[in-house]
Amino acid sequence: MTMQENAESLLVGVDVGGTKIAAGVVDARGQVLSRVQIPTDTDGAEKTLQSIATGIVETMRAAGVEREQIRGIGLGIPGEVNPESGVGLFAANLHWRNVPVKRWLEDALGMPCAIENDVSVAALGEHLYGAGRTERDSKADTMVYLSLGTGVAAKAIIGGKLHRGSHGLAGEIGHTVFVPDGPLCACGARGCLEALAAGPALAKRAREAIQAGHVSLLQEQDQATLTAHHLFSAIAQGDNLSRQIVAGAATHLAYAVYLLAMTFDPQVIVLGGGLAHEENPLIEGIRAGVAQWIERSPVFRVIWHANMLRLTALKRDVGILGAAALLADGETV
Ligand SMILES: [Zn+2]
Repeated sequence: MTMQENAESLLVGVDVGGTKIAAGVVDARGQVLSRVQIPTDTDGAEKTLQSIATGIVETMRAAGVEREQIRGIGLGIPGEVNPESGVGLFAANLHWRNVPVKRWLEDALGMPCAIENDVSVAALGEHLYGAGRTERDSKADTMVYLSLGTGVAAKAIIGGKLHRGSHGLAGEIGHTVFVPDGPLCACGARGCLEALAAGPALAKRAREAIQAGHVSLLQEQDQATLTAHHLFSAIAQGDNLSRQIVAGAATHLAYAVYLLAMTFDPQVIVLGGGLAHEENPLIEGIRAGVAQWIERSPVFRVIWHANMLRLTALKRDVGILGAAALLADGETV
């Protein structure tokens, strides 16, 4: 391949998080050629943008590529964005309001940029490069991505395109009330799915139960740093409290999967996020809960198929590959 043929065939994908920025160079086949991770400077939008630019420059250097080979830069932002204007509207973790991300980075780096919400980016990444591919290795026409991690959120791909809705809020099942008057959620409502079943909610439930006098293996853990993964390990050792808490969350998440399947009639539902990188008691619980909905609901039986619910194929690379997917087109894959 000559240098000429190679011109502008590469993409840069950037996963902008509240504590770290991951940037990678991605080739036309969806291979990640370099991965660079740097801390996010959240001391003002200007400094955050500078740390993003640093991550981009460093990952290009790590891959040994020049600016002329890069077709564009895609960024996943943890918050609300306007993809048309390239403005980051609101991102709590980054303390952002109306930050002109696209314009700033294009001026600084001289390469075209595109931004999207991080969960949307993950959905696009799985759709183009990961678990969204069907048995015939074509992209699923209708796919739902459900992110399970520090938050709970879903995004749908319909007709091969990301469905944003009129406010970019389509798929906000994490802030849908599942239990009226349930635990308080960060959004201000009570009983949201996120407040019932996200990673921090599981840890909080365990801490509260232990404080209330429940006996658990988790008492041996530092309570301040308790995570859902500690609950999974405790279940493997027979811990009853952890089993009950995870089973309760899985019941709510299985209902979410059922609702998403009934709403979108997708070919594939991809579970992503830090709680879905591998099989664990939460995922097992979701599968068991879905099996109950298959028993209960004849219409669901028509929609459902054995290989519908899949775990993320891209795992930790989903942010980089998904952001790159913002600029990929059908011919390149
Ligand atoms: Zn909420």
